[in-house]
Amino acid sequence: MNAVRPAVRRIRPYTLRAETAPVRLNRNESPYDWPADWKRWVLERAMERAWSRYPEFSPAGLIQALARRWDWPESGVLVGNGSNELLQALTTVTLEPGRRMLTLEPTFVLYAQQAALAGAEVLSEEFGEAWSFDVGRLEARLRAERPAVLFLCSPNNPTGSWLEPEGLETLLQASPETLVVLDEAYGEFARWSARQLLPRHENLAVLKTFSKAAGLAGLRIGYLLASPGLAGAVARAKLPYSVNLLAALAAERALEGGPLLEERIGRIVSERERVGGELARVRGVRVHPSRANFLLFDVDDAQRVFASLVSSGVLVRDVSGGHPRLSRSLRVTIGLPEENDLFLAGMRRAMEGGT
Ligand code: PMP
Repeated sequence: MNAVRPAVRRIRPYTLRAETAPVRLNRNESPYDWPADWKRWVLERAMERAWSRYPEFSPAGLIQALARRWDWPESGVLVGNGSNELLQALTTVTLEPGRRMLTLEPTFVLYAQQAALAGAEVLSEEFGEAWSFDVGRLEARLRAERPAVLFLCSPNNPTGSWLEPEGLETLLQASPETLVVLDEAYGEFARWSARQLLPRHENLAVLKTFSKAAGLAGLRIGYLLASPGLAGAVARAKLPYSVNLLAALAAERALEGGPLLEERIGRIVSERERVGGELARVRGVRVHPSRANFLLFDVDDAQRVFASLVSSGVLVRDVSGGHPRLSRSLRVTIGLPEENDLFLAGMRRAMEGGT
């Protein structure tokens, strides 16, 4: 243990309790598995390759397809083993002891965890009223502290709140030497991407993933859109061959997917609105607006309601221990309509004592 750096000893491990239930709405995954013919397409192509050989060092077909999809140079596209790998690589190339990282809390825990592992100082700012992004306050912090990196997530996990384009632009201008990393893991559900701002702002990097809207969490693939200079620098910290053959093929298939993925996104968004509306009518529940594939809601006693939902066969995410302002909060992923109905019935049972 003496060999382990103090910065590592101080970090709380990122784990998820291994509870299980028939309806799992705790990990913000897509409820829609891939169609069998899409899986077959991937497997057939994989069958033609030698599995004894490493995959392409940089999957050219996929990078071309992403560059076309986003109308952005191939040299500014980097793919990784989930967007998490790119987040780690980004942190490695930008942060070190003596440098600062700023983020808004509560958010995805990996930003602070990776920054702390790099030995950087972690600064955090509060959200505004009703979990809004308080651009004025962030702007003041940026000007005062000039951090090396600002990590933002929009729509934000776990609050579901989002940053408006004008707000992002204000932040990009406030401290041009700060790299602003915008994690758009849930961006498809908000139907806007900061990609539009890339040509005007060299200090912007956009992180995206196939894990959520594209339904590929099981294969681990994500990507970064950034200036070619930054993408090249981040590539230096990535492990070789981290994107396996199946993941790269599946991501290509997703980009060729036609209307199916769009339809699925549309169904999740309309279910989010329906579930949000019905949940808000359950006595004692406060629901926060969300542009993601999940909803954050507050109850009297988060742990009691969590346990009651488990006994109804529904697993949500108990986020109540993560931040003082979340002490009464749970997060539910939008699932299939019938799963959402089971969740709503479980909530009525938990809050109103019905059957
Ligand atoms: N960013 C955020 C904000 C997330 O919530 C998640 C899912 N836990 C990820 C990234 C993970 O992305 P990936 O599966 O691409 O590593």
